[in-house]
Amino acid sequence: MNVQTCLLSAAIASALLVAAPGHAARRDGAAVKPAAQARAQAMLARGGVAARLARQAAADDFVPQATIVDADGTEHVRFARTYQGLPVVGGDFVLHSRNGQPLGVSQTLATTDRPGVSPGINSGRAIGLANVEFASALSDAPNARLVVYARRAEPVLAYEVVLSGFRADQTPREMHYFVDAASGAILDRWDGVETAQPGRDGDACAGGVAAVGSGISLTEGTVALDTVKCGSVYQLKDLTRGGGYTTNMGLRQTGMGSIYVDADNTWGNGGYNDSATVAADAHYGVSATWDYYFDVHGRHGIADDGVGAASRVHYGRNYGNAFWRDSCFCMTFGDGDNGVSILPLVALDIAGHEMSHGVTSRSADLDYSGESGGLNEATSDIMGTMVEWHVDNPNDPGDYLIGEKIYPNNPGYYALRYMFKPSLDDQSPDCYAPGLGDLDVHYSSGVANHFFYLLAEGAVVPAGFEQFGVTPASLVCDGNTSIAGIGRDAASRIWYRALTVYMTSNTDYAGARDATEQAAADLFGPGSAQALAVSAAWNAVSVL
Ligand SMILES: [Zn+2]
Repeated sequence: MNVQTCLLSAAIASALLVAAPGHAARRDGAAVKPAAQARAQAMLARGGVAARLARQAAADDFVPQATIVDADGTEHVRFARTYQGLPVVGGDFVLHSRNGQPLGVSQTLATTDRPGVSPGINSGRAIGLANVEFASALSDAPNARLVVYARRAEPVLAYEVVLSGFRADQTPREMHYFVDAASGAILDRWDGVETAQPGRDGDACAGGVAAVGSGISLTEGTVALDTVKCGSVYQLKDLTRGGGYTTNMGLRQTGMGSIYVDADNTWGNGGYNDSATVAADAHYGVSATWDYYFDVHGRHGIADDGVGAASRVHYGRNYGNAFWRDSCFCMTFGDGDNGVSILPLVALDIAGHEMSHGVTSRSADLDYSGESGGLNEATSDIMGTMVEWHVDNPNDPGDYLIGEKIYPNNPGYYALRYMFKPSLDDQSPDCYAPGLGDLDVHYSSGVANHFFYLLAEGAVVPAGFEQFGVTPASLVCDGNTSIAGIGRDAASRIWYRALTVYMTSNTDYAGARDATEQAAADLFGPGSAQALAVSAAWNAVSVL
C-alpha cells in the first residue's frame, strides 16, 4: 500500500535443504484458500478461543486477507480488523489453525480496549494540521477518514489524512498522516496509497501469442525476453508470467506510458540511443523475480494470484531512483543521469527490491515507519539480493551489495547499501539499539540485512573488503566470529515464511526475531541447526 523508494545515499567511494515436509507451502493455494478463510471466520464468529486470542472487542469485525496453507493442512489466515466499521490500524493479525482448531494468533495489538468514536475535531481541521507538515503543492484533493490508530499500547481515534504530490526529486509523494481526533497531534506518518486506478491491460491485443525475443540490455548483457506476437509486431509483455508488461514513460511522471512495441523481437542495443535498452533490463529483472518467488517459495507473482505487474521505464528527467506503487501494481524506474554518475536504476537487485515491496504489501504489509518500516526495506533488500543470486547471470553475479550496478566504472565496492556491514554506507547502524526506529527506513533496515547475511553466510568477509578494515570480528556485535551460515536458500525460506505467516503490520525487531525463530522451527524443526543459527544471528546483531 505504499510508494517506497530506494534511497540514493552517499556511498563509500549451498544450502542445507532438509525441510520438514509438513511445512512446505502448498502450490495449489488458490483452491484451498477460500475454504481456509471460511473456517477461520467461523472460528472467530463462535466467540471462543480464537476470538479471545485475537483480542476481539464487541464491535470488531474481521476481513480475511492473504492466506497460506501448509502441506500438512495447517492454515494461516491473515485478517484486517475494523471497529464499528472503522479500520483498526495495527489491529491486523494472523490466525493459525489446524483441523478447525485454533493454534495461536500473531499480532501486535495488546488490548481489547477501544476508543470512543466521536471526534473532537472535524476532518477539515485534521487536513489543515497535516497540510502544515506536508508543506508542498497537492496534486490531488486531500481526503480524511476516521480510523482507530492502534500501533501504540492504547488505541485512539484518529483521522487518516492522505495528501498527494511530488517530492523535489520527482518521486510521487502520497503521505498518510494519523491525526489524533481529540488533540490534533500528528501521531504517525508514512508514504501511502493512491486511490486512482490506471488501466492494467497493457494494450492487450486480441489473439496475441507468446514469443521469445532477445534483449540487449544495459546492465545484464544479452538476455532472453518473453514477449507477445501481436499481428505483425511484438509487444514487451510476458504471457507466461501473468501478462506483466513494460512501458515507456517518455520522461513523464504521470500515466502508465506506452507499451514497448518492436518489429523484430530484438529489444535495445546495449546503449542509451535506443530507448528499449533499459526496458530489456527491467523486463528481464521482473521475470527473474517472478521465477525466484515461484521456484523457491511457490509464490505465483507479487500478489500470489498469478497476475503480472507493469514496469515503467524512463520515468521523469534524470530521476535517480526507483519505486513500487501499490495502487497501480507497478514498478517505476528512473534513468539516473544516463551513466554520467548514475546509470538507469534497472538492475536485477533493484527490480527484485521493488517487486518485493509488492510482496510485502500483499502479506505482512509492514507499515513504512518505525522499526516495521526498516523490516519492510530489509525484506526488499534481502529478496532483491536473493533474486540476483538465483538468476546466476555472469554479467551481474550475486553479492550482498545493493545497487552496485548503478555506478559506472564501479571498482567493486560502490553500493547503496552493504548487507554484511551496513555501516559502510556511513548511515546505517550494524547493531540494534533503542531508537533504531527513528532513523530513515533505508537505514533502520541495516540491522535486519546484517542478520540475514550472518544467517546465510556466517562471519565471512566478502572478497575485496579487507582493504576497508572489515574483519570477521567487525562483522558481529557480540564477538561470536564462529557463527556459521546455513546457506542462502534456507535463510531466505525462513525470512519468507516469517514475512508471510507470522509478521503483521506493526511487527518490530523483537517480533521479527520471534517470527524467524518460529519459521525456522516450522521448516527445519525445533532445535535444528537452522533454528539455532537464527537465534545466534540475532544475538550477533544485538536483537536479544
Ligand atoms: Zn525500498
